[in-house]
Amino acid sequence: MEFEYADASQQWFEAVFKDHQEGARSRASSLILEGSKTNTGCIVTPTQGARKVRFMGRQMPAYRFIFCIQNQVSASYDDVVRHRCNNRRCINPDHLELGSRGENLQDEREFAANGVDYDLL
Ligand SMILES: [Zn+2]
Repeated sequence: MEFEYADASQQWFEAVFKDHQEGARSRASSLILEGSKTNTGCIVTPTQGARKVRFMGRQMPAYRFIFCIQNQVSASYDDVVRHRCNNRRCINPDHLELGSRGENLQDEREFAANGVDYDLL
């Protein structure tokens, strides 16, 4: 028998969307409001690396939290939130996109070779 397996990450997002959607959304908005906008349109957190957020017993990078909550995506462990701007401190939802680990690696190679095309953001 086949069934769809939801990993702990997906289950957590589903539980949040079901019972804590409002709290999650306001947390995401306040994280964005606390960030500062750069001249490339990024919204960066005042941290050295990617800012972490803790919500309902789970910790994750703020950009992953914000992207998934705002787009109602129940991301699995294998789903990564990619930065189209290649700035890991950026939490601007418009600069974030869901993808696979393979695509994320490909992004890194492409940014290294060609830089970021800000017109695409
Ligand atoms: Zn950005």
